[in-house]
Amino acid sequence: NSTSKKPPSPSPLRFSKFFQSNMRILVTGGAGFIGSHLVDKLMENEKNEVIVVDNYFTGTKDNLKKWIGHPRFELIRHDVTEPLLIEVDQIYHLACPASPIFYKYNPVKTIKTNVIGTLNMLGLAKRVGARILLTSTSEVYGDPLEHPQTESYWGNVNPIGVRSCYDEGKRVAETLMFDYHRQHGIEIRIARIFNTYGPRMNIDDGRVVSNFIAQALRNEPLTVQLPGTQTRSFCYVSDMVDGLIRLMEGENTGPINIGNPGEFTMLELAESVKELINPEVKISMVENTPDDPRQRKPDITKAKEVLGWEPKVKLRDGLPLMEEDFRLRLGVPKKN
Ligand code: NAD
Ligand code: UDP
Ligand code: UDP
Repeated sequence: NSTSKKPPSPSPLRFSKFFQSNMRILVTGGAGFIGSHLVDKLMENEKNEVIVVDNYFTGTKDNLKKWIGHPRFELIRHDVTEPLLIEVDQIYHLACPASPIFYKYNPVKTIKTNVIGTLNMLGLAKRVGARILLTSTSEVYGDPLEHPQTESYWGNVNPIGVRSCYDEGKRVAETLMFDYHRQHGIEIRIARIFNTYGPRMNIDDGRVVSNFIAQALRNEPLTVQLPGTQTRSFCYVSDMVDGLIRLMEGENTGPINIGNPGEFTMLELAESVKELINPEVKISMVENTPDDPRQRKPDITKAKEVLGWEPKVKLRDGLPLMEEDFRLRLGVPKKN
């Protein structure tokens, strides 16, 4: 009969899937430095809807102002240590203060953010079947006894030091990610991020590149912490964001080091800032803080092989881009 030839009416689920071809992406900590650049990149793709969750501890709405009111963008004030009930396809989990000044300010809160915050985001990923990427850190290697650091190195971390809320917190977050993966089949991605710099870094957050650039522009001495021979490797933020998106879209769980292997001593960094930004500025040696790693440089062989990724922006090219942003925010015009 004629009624049996009618096509079946779509189930509510299929119906909504048909119209929801967009990818709904949650970025926790999206009002922060790296998060806001990640949001800019994700928003370039018209198939992406981006939801940012942030408690504005170290981030600001200002970093996202160009997206507020956009139909594919949503901003939610929320603390990830509290449960979150939304529907998403992917989660970039960045929420966590990254600068020592801020993460040491309330260490108990930092560890709650790393542990309970990550647990909540994993619970969310499990409930909705989303893929989740954690931004872990090179700090999981502690003061490394292996140089450069490969992903197979287990680290040399003080469990009871003043940095432990951050580095041990991230280590537990990584453990949780792998336990949810093994126990519940959650699709996980772990990036071990090395020092990253660029526009929108907090001006007074105490990290070395932002300190030196702000000091150079204010004509204050560049404060090199003793001994000055300690090294770091600095990745420009656009390279970092490319690496994170490739990791999310690829097939490898990680952990994968994402960073720039160009290694500099803090004295060399100060000399570069002086030369590029303010040749008159003085350099002064000051006391260091406890547990400061003496050297840090990523081995990015795995990122190259698995993600086809390597950084493109050299420190000497990235510093002037950051200088421009700091000049605007500090109101220091360029001399002609
Ligand atoms: P950031 O401080 O600029 O951004 C962190 C964001 O998370 C901020 O917007 C902050 O308000 C938010 N946040 C903090 N606690 C929260 C909470 N409980 N609930 C909701 N939001 C919260 O730092 P960033 O440099 O952009 O770092 C982003 C991520 O990358 C962090 O997970 C950090 O550990 C990691 N990382 C950064 C670096 C680096 O050099 N910048 C290096 C290694 C790892
Ligand atoms: N959770 C969340 N959003 C969700 C699902 C879970 O924030 O959509 C939180 C939940 O409150 C819990 C955590 O994630 O604290 C872990 O959830 P899971 O279901 O894995 O564990 P359980 O609730 O059984 O302890
Ligand atoms: N540092 C410095 N002067 C500053 C701030 C930091 O010499 O004004 C040094 C610090 O001792 C460390 C390096 O710069 O060796 C990187 O410090 P930062 O806090 O930026 O990052 P992290 O220690 O987390 O790598």
